[in-house]
Amino acid sequence: MSGNGKILVFVDLPGGELDETGRGLLSYGSRLAGFLDAPWGTATLLEPAGEHLAAFAAYGVPAITCVAGGDNALDTPAHLGRLLGQLATETTAKIIVLPHNDLGATLAPMIAATLNAAILTEVVTARRQGDGVRLSRQALGGRVAETKEWDGSRPLVITVPVRSLSQVLMPTVRPSTPALTVWHPLALPTDAAATVTERIPPDPQTVDLTEAEVIFSAGKGCDQATFDQLKELCRLLNVSFGVTRPVYDLGWTGFERMVGQTGRTVTPRVYLALGISGSMHHVGGIKDSRRIISINSDAKAPIFANSDEGFVADLKEVLPSLLERVKAAVGGAQ
Ligand SMILES: Cc1cc2nc3c(=O)[nH]c(=O)nc-3n(C[C@H](O)[C@H](O)[C@H](O)COP(=O)(O)OP(=O)(O)OC[C@H]3O[C@@H](n4cnc5c(N)ncnc54)[C@H](O)[C@@H]3O)c2cc1C
Repeated sequence: MSGNGKILVFVDLPGGELDETGRGLLSYGSRLAGFLDAPWGTATLLEPAGEHLAAFAAYGVPAITCVAGGDNALDTPAHLGRLLGQLATETTAKIIVLPHNDLGATLAPMIAATLNAAILTEVVTARRQGDGVRLSRQALGGRVAETKEWDGSRPLVITVPVRSLSQVLMPTVRPSTPALTVWHPLALPTDAAATVTERIPPDPQTVDLTEAEVIFSAGKGCDQATFDQLKELCRLLNVSFGVTRPVYDLGWTGFERMVGQTGRTVTPRVYLALGISGSMHHVGGIKDSRRIISINSDAKAPIFANSDEGFVADLKEVLPSLLERVKAAVGGAQ
């Protein structure tokens, strides 16, 4: 890689745990370092321990830098962005990798501004190209696909779509004994212009479906009662809901909730299709979901051929009992 810079992968450890996204980033980092033949390391806000530290070792992470006081830094993304920029400078990182989720997409421009770096979001692959790097990105739920070249003259901040992260452990990766460093940042001037008093996560009920993590969708197999139950279920579980065209045509919801060829192309972690036959116009908009689960009363419904898991069942029976169980599980707090 040009400039002998290294790759710094930011791995958030919510509650000290390495989650699916974190493992996906470790896998991505190890492959990227291999493709670019560059040294790499990770930045964390908490110190990984036990099985989580073992996972870092399994993915061959050579170095873990834990930001001292990083736990508090999460309260103010602007501050954290500048801290990570400072860390990247000190560690001579040339490529900084973040997940394209709420936190990563917030931090990326801040780190880039601190480093005067180039920024590229939703990068799927990166390959060496002479002295530079060729990067492919797929943005806006796959609607935008383009390839860019980075010449290495200044640092590069990239975000990687969470849906494209795979936790696969490459057979070529050798387990490591990561060097763990607690990094003490220099005090930064406080941001007098703005003080963050509260962080409000995106509301799954209103977030653009192309950005939704989990979607439960209603097809024509839902009647008004089961559709209302589904919406209630989505509210209780804090997930997004979508519809097929016939349901949109009934006027039960706005166009922004319609999924498919003429509606939104979605790429959630989980897509639950309820009473949806599986027409090509609908499937075309959901096929890149990480996991498709469907429930349909017709065992021959085409949606099953496009699902990772399928259940033959009547929604009029399934939804009321599912709703009752979820209500019981959330303890009537809603
Ligand atoms: C140019 C064009 C563009 C289109 N764009 C889109 C688009 O963007 N998005 C889209 O969704 N469609 C689109 N369509 C329409 C598409 O072709 C299908 O008609 C539509 O997707 C079917 O929706 P559905 O699965 O909800 O309904 P249906 O095909 O009627 O399927 C309903 C399903 O529910 C099941 N069911 C019935 N009762 C129950 C029950 N009690 N319990 C469980 N299952 C039950 C049935 O077995 C059936 O499989 C487009 C069509 C055209 C021509």
